[in-house]
Amino acid sequence: MPKKVIIIGGGPAGYPAALKLKELGAEPVIAESWDFGGACLNRGCIPSKSLLDVGYRVHSMDVLKGLMREGQTLAFTPEMLSWDKIKARRAAAVAKLRTSLEKLFQMKRIEIVRGRAEFTGANEATIATASGPVVKNFDCAVIASGTRPWFPAPFDAFKTQLTDSDRVFDLPSLPRSIAIVGGGVIGLEFACFFNSLGVQVSVVELMPDILAGEDETVARTVKTSFEKRGIKFYLGKKTSAVEISGGLKTLVLEDGSRISAEETLVGAGRSADLSGLGLEKLGLKWDRKGIRVDAHMRTGLENIYAAGDVNGISPLAHSASRQGEIAAENIMGAQRVFDGDIVPKCIYTWPEVGTVGLNKAQAEAKGLNVKASRAYFLGNGRAVTHDETEGFAQIVYNAADETILGGQIVGGAATELIHVLAVAVKFKLKRSEMREIIYAHPTTAEAIHEALQK
Ligand SMILES: Cc1cc2nc3c(=O)[nH]c(=O)nc-3n(C[C@H](O)[C@H](O)[C@H](O)COP(=O)(O)OP(=O)(O)OC[C@H]3O[C@@H](n4cnc5c(N)ncnc54)[C@H](O)[C@@H]3O)c2cc1C
Repeated sequence: MPKKVIIIGGGPAGYPAALKLKELGAEPVIAESWDFGGACLNRGCIPSKSLLDVGYRVHSMDVLKGLMREGQTLAFTPEMLSWDKIKARRAAAVAKLRTSLEKLFQMKRIEIVRGRAEFTGANEATIATASGPVVKNFDCAVIASGTRPWFPAPFDAFKTQLTDSDRVFDLPSLPRSIAIVGGGVIGLEFACFFNSLGVQVSVVELMPDILAGEDETVARTVKTSFEKRGIKFYLGKKTSAVEISGGLKTLVLEDGSRISAEETLVGAGRSADLSGLGLEKLGLKWDRKGIRVDAHMRTGLENIYAAGDVNGISPLAHSASRQGEIAAENIMGAQRVFDGDIVPKCIYTWPEVGTVGLNKAQAEAKGLNVKASRAYFLGNGRAVTHDETEGFAQIVYNAADETILGGQIVGGAATELIHVLAVAVKFKLKRSEMREIIYAHPTTAEAIHEALQK
């Protein structure tokens, strides 16, 4: 008899788990209570990149404006754009990808049950579908229920009046000003997008710097670039109250200053989506960050796994997918582990950011003797021809044997380039080995080559 596995959540963790289980001969069933494809496809990675693409095209028009013949002007301003058409383009991209994913599941004959799942026994889950409860018995389960936007105090009392990263895509109109709470990846991507469309943007961050945990030069480069474009930062600032009146939402900061904007996006983090799952019936423990698992994605119970954002290890779509596959393979008898050290982290703003492995501060905190070498895009042929010279490529390596431990790239197609350094980190390549690669000219990848030679 094939192993029966229920997967709760059809996002980047859940659907690869189901596909892998099917491939390995199990009988997976996937329960999804919202849109198939999860946050990433429907309310995260994909729709945000559709918006950022519009923003980047607008931003790039400045180059053309500077190249107009005497007496000619490019009449374009972002105010000419239709927010409804931008939303429709985003929705079309999402729908296209979701349809092909659903078709793949049909083709593979993997059952998707639409509704919220709850554990109703040690080996039983009940899914509340539109046509009534559907009971599924299982040998193993993968919890891949993801996260939901988190509203800390004082924002929690205004959940419906403020927006979040789920609902911002459907704002009825583009605000003239927006305050974004949270200077992490999500907050900065929205800040970059709204600014490009002429919206006044303020970013309020509790921590002393944006992009907590990232290399400080990375954070400084992004912040300086954003400030040049008019984005205002309020760092190390706690919001003590929210006031809403006369079409304005005002954040009252602890130091007494006030930030008023037509819209406020709370992007202060996300919390595990565990409501109504019935985890207490299984005796599983969890906290706001999620369900604790080991590197095999096993929870405290032998037959229950948790993959993706719900376990709080690495809240990224590609980490979720790898973890889903690992859970599936381990269910089928493998002993695979998730290596969080080799996960590339990308920010799709301009300049772009891509990092992998350790930065210098992280390596030093581990007691390692490391060096960092850096090459700036200011001297890079491709970057100069594109007028995009902000940023750098940096390589962190072991001082003794020059093994590459990490890399940080800001600018120059960083979200693609970082994979070159991901290979180096994964396979513990030395600087001399990476120098053996021939880097095409002119490319922004040459900055990696230059950093390797310093
Ligand atoms: C605005 C934004 C932009 C982002 N951009 C990027 C990016 O560019 N790159 C990147 O790597 N990551 C990005 N992320 C993060 C990425 O979306 C998540 O890491 C990824 O979606 C996690 O996948 P998951 O499968 O663990 O969870 P989710 O994608 O959240 O999927 C979980 C699914 O489970 C369903 N579910 C929950 N409970 C139940 C239940 N009881 N029964 C049935 N179904 C249930 C939910 O409806 C959901 O569809 C972004 C996130 C946001 C919010």
